Formats: sequence, C-alpha cells, structure tokens
Amino acid sequence: MRNSSYLNAQSTTETRTRVRDVSPTSGMCPICIKDCPFLCEIGLSAFRGREVLYPSPRQFGWSTAGAQKDFGLDWSHFTILSRLRGAKGIAEDPDLALFPNVDIQSEIGGIKLKIPIANGAFGSTAVAKNNWDGLAVGAALSGIILVIGENVCGMDPQARFTNGKVTHSPDLEYRVKKFREFWDPKFGDVAVQTNVEDQRFGVDVYAISKLEVNIIERKWGQGAKAIGGEVRLTTLERALELKRRGYLVVPDPEDKVVQEAFRAGLITSFERHSRVGMPKERDFVEDVEWLREQGAKKVTLKTGAYAPADVAWTMKVASEARVDYITFDGAGGGTGMSPVPMMNEMSTPTVYLEAQVLKCCQILKKKGKYVPDISFAGGFINETQIFKAIALSNFGDGPYVKSITMARAPLTAVMKVRYFKELAASGKLPSDFAERYGTDPNKWFVTLGELKERLGQDVNKIPLEAVGLYTYLVDRIGTGLKQLMAGCRKFKLNLIDRTDLAALDERAARVTGIPTVDQAEQELFEQILDF
Ligand code: SF4
Repeated sequence: MRNSSYLNAQSTTETRTRVRDVSPTSGMCPICIKDCPFLCEIGLSAFRGREVLYPSPRQFGWSTAGAQKDFGLDWSHFTILSRLRGAKGIAEDPDLALFPNVDIQSEIGGIKLKIPIANGAFGSTAVAKNNWDGLAVGAALSGIILVIGENVCGMDPQARFTNGKVTHSPDLEYRVKKFREFWDPKFGDVAVQTNVEDQRFGVDVYAISKLEVNIIERKWGQGAKAIGGEVRLTTLERALELKRRGYLVVPDPEDKVVQEAFRAGLITSFERHSRVGMPKERDFVEDVEWLREQGAKKVTLKTGAYAPADVAWTMKVASEARVDYITFDGAGGGTGMSPVPMMNEMSTPTVYLEAQVLKCCQILKKKGKYVPDISFAGGFINETQIFKAIALSNFGDGPYVKSITMARAPLTAVMKVRYFKELAASGKLPSDFAERYGTDPNKWFVTLGELKERLGQDVNKIPLEAVGLYTYLVDRIGTGLKQLMAGCRKFKLNLIDRTDLAALDERAARVTGIPTVDQAEQELFEQILDF
C-alpha cells in the first residue's frame, strides 16, 4: 500500500484496528472509541512499549520477518522481453535450443555456483540455529555459497575464550561441518561472516585456522536494519552471560529492578544487540590484507542499504581493498529480528540500490579500477527477480551481479518441510495436502529419485528439510530461470542483459535507465519496417 494506513495495524506485530476504513494518514480508526477491544499499534504499545517495535516476540526463533511497505518500485515494475528469432549461447537448432539445455551456472569471486544463488547470512538468531541441518545440507547439495552469519561464537554457550579470543566453538564447528558433509568442492562453499563483536573475539582467525574456512566475510550491515544484529533472550542467566561477554543487553539484566520485573513476569525477554562498525578506508584495506595473510582464500564484504554517498564510498573502498565480492542487501528483505519501523521506513529499496551500485561499477570500470563481483539481496524469492537483477547489471560485457543472496525464502522452505513432517507424524496434515501428496514424507519430494541416484545410500543421511531446500532452489528456481532464459533465447547466464528488460512505468525507467515497453527498441523497430 502506498499510504500510511498500515501504520497502526501490522501482521508483523500482530496488531489490528477495529475498522477497515482507517485514516490513510495515521492508520487510526476514523473514530477511536473507549470501548475498543482490539489491539492496534498504539493500544499494544501502551502495554508493551518497545516490544512492539519488533516482530511478534512469541514467534521469535520460529519465524522470519520482512517489510510490508510498498516502496513504489520493485522487480514487478519490469517485464522480460521474449524473443522470436535465433539463439545465443547454443546452436540455432530447435532440437538443441530447449530450455533444459540452458546453462545457469555462475561464478562469483572465483567460486563456481551451480545456480546463481547464495544463502544467508544465517547467524546467531535462533531461527537459523533451529533449522541449521536443512539449510546447510540443502545449500551444499544445491552447489551454492552458504554464509554463516554474525555472533555465532559469541552466542555459543559452550564456546571457550582465552584472553578474549575464541578458541573453541562447538556451534560454529558444527555449522561448518554440516555443510561440508554433502559439499562438492567444485561448487559453492561456506563463508563465515564477522561483525565488530566477532572481530574482537578473533572469530576470523579461529574459523580460518581451526575450521579451515576459506571465505571470511566482513559485515557492515543489512537491508532490514541499520543497527547491529539483534536476538531475543528468554532467560535471565543467558542475558547475564551475554552481557558478561561484552554484548549490549537491554534491559540491563544486572539491574536489580529489571531482575525483579523479569521474575514477576512483567518483562518476558531481553534483547541482545551488536555494535555497529566505524569503517575507515585505510583500516579496511589493511584489514583485508591481514585476513589474506591469516590464510583467508576469499575475503568478501556484506553491507546494507545505506545512503547513496555511502554506497559510492563502499564501492571505492572495496575496489581499493580488492575484495573478492560484495553483497549489497536492499530494504524490503527480511531478518530473524529487526525493528519493524526500521524495515518499513529506513534504507534504500533493492531496485534503487542496485541502480546506484551499477553506476559505481561503471564509473570504476571507466577509470580502469578493480570492480568486485556483486551479489544482491533484499526480498528475492524467485527466478523472475533473479533474472531481472542479473540482466539489469549487464551493460554488454557480462553481468556485474553474479549471484543473488537469499535468506528468508530458504528458511521458509526448510521450516515448511519441518512443520509438515510434524503434522504427518501426528496425523494432522491438511486434508487437501494429504489427498494430493500422501501422508508419507518420503513420497512428497519430486527430486528424491534424482538425489537417490546421485548419492546412493547416503541419501538416507539427508534431512528431508534439505531435500525441500534443494527442490525449491534447484528444481523450482533453477528450472524457472532456465525457462525464462530460453524464452529470451539466451542459453548462458552471462548473456542475459539489459536489452532483455523493459520498464513498466516511468519511475522504473528513470531509476534504472531501462526504457519503457513503448520506448524499447524503437530505432530497430523503424529500421525493420524500412524495406
Ligand atoms: S484503539 Fe482506537 S485506533 Fe486503535 S483499534 Fe481501537 S478504535 Fe481503532
């Protein structure tokens, strides 16, 4: 919606208004009455205050959340232009130019990907930990990059520290190993992301030296929020432990008043916050050099959707430091726990952000500077968005955007399988699902046969949640992408380009430089008819 009617009733915070015809300016009911039993944002905030800034706390750990605001420009404002004649990247032969023959492999920062996707970053937030096996094995089977997010060691109750540096973290070790169990080293890899807290704990050196991690990602931010990572803690002991480890925990668990309020049930959880970085150009260049000296084979950067000048500065610094690739995360995407007003009202939406990043890439290229590969994140769930984001970035010399990073959608795929398995075990599957696909989870997945063929007996070691993720990423998105590309007669991923897109409105055209449908190929149009 383009007005403010969502402000006072949001499914993310489980708030609603008494009437539907709310004020488009405030979101309040046009007549607000004393005898109203509903909890709108204002009403719930009167009881729970800061808690209402966040997606429903009772869903924490088993949910993800994103923005619901219509930013007025997203990938639906572009259409993909299909082609009638010829074929690129394959012989012009109808027997060969078939969509299953489209090559959708990509390569980012020298890492080959079977499909142009990275998953992550999944850090210390409980929803990542709760679903790890499905995420890790599913990503490994799909031949993509999996990013382990920030604060994993700092949150690990079993982690050991010597002089403030981590020397043992069973959680991080488990996460890396789980991915590697089914990893084909020819495709994808596992990355460990490090924020300010992780750098203080020496997570980078631990990951490189003890866990033989190849990719270290520095974390500057995310599209869903412009403050550090946050999680919810439900016990006083855990809140105290993390405060002792140096995190900002709100409210202060050492405060006697807070302790009493918690015991009395007035406060039911604590927030653990991370610090934000203060990046400086020289420091970052030296930091990247230092990481390489420590043994990092790839050094990458993950940043959020900051203001235009910060985007330009980030690209300049990343070029100077020669990072292997950067992930930009646009507003509109999601997270395990970010303030809802921040997700809706702050930072640059994905299409605008990509337009800015591409401008930087072109300027750097023109100057003969190093241009790092780009991965884009921020609300991607399917192949149409992936096609458009990659095609938009190809001005004729191959795409700058080499992969799309997804977080919420893979988690949804994994959680769906998990929940339906639970429903099957308790005989509570939705009847239409049971009628269509049966009640035996081993018979639900269209890819299980191919995975059995590929893995033999090892297929029994794969959690079905991972099969679900693989099916979603490879069978659905991968096939869908091949179909779209074949429709454009482009049979290799690096051939899709800006001429495959047309804008559906003036704003989309102005922001990206992609002509509207009525303006596209006008010269050619006239030439063809000049016979
Ligand atoms: S408290 Fe007022 S604004 Fe909120 S839902 Fe009730 S009537 Fe509407």
